[in-house]
Amino acid sequence: MEKIIIAENDPNFKYDIASQPGAESFMRCFTCGTCTASCPVAEVNEEYDPRKIIRMSILGMREEVLSSDLLWMCSRCYTCAALCPQNVKFTDVISILRDMAVKEGYVQPERLDKALELDKVIQSIRCRIINNKLHPEENDKVEILKALEDELDTKW
Ligand code: SF4
Ligand code: SF4
Repeated sequence: MEKIIIAENDPNFKYDIASQPGAESFMRCFTCGTCTASCPVAEVNEEYDPRKIIRMSILGMREEVLSSDLLWMCSRCYTCAALCPQNVKFTDVISILRDMAVKEGYVQPERLDKALELDKVIQSIRCRIINNKLHPEENDKVEILKALEDELDTKW
């Protein structure tokens, strides 16, 4: 397991996050894990762990959190926020972290908008696949694959 050296972390990171609208209660997290257990992304990606992102943020691991690709995996479904017993709005926290990652130069500004666009495209493809399963006679597999290919070709 990787060692965390607290003295090298940024003690202000958690306050910078908590000062943003929507993240006021994020330090109330008591690591129950309900967010991670209910997250559809964590279910398919074992690296993605909302509880861990909150813990790392509270511990001041600014660079590790803001430079992580995992910030961009959240599908913003709000399940975690709805179920958190401590009223932590993790979906809002993720948006704040993304914003900070851009402002602090960890990622290109365009990525914020692209991430929102990508969420829409993914939901659209998801609905089309479900529809394809329910109505295979419509035979729209080629169109779905084309939509997927177009998205994969879009630069971030
Ligand atoms: S559900 Fe809430 S309290 Fe529990 S780990 Fe997640 S953020 Fe923390
Ligand atoms: S909002 Fe993000 S972190 Fe929360 S449950 Fe949905 S995908 Fe997971």
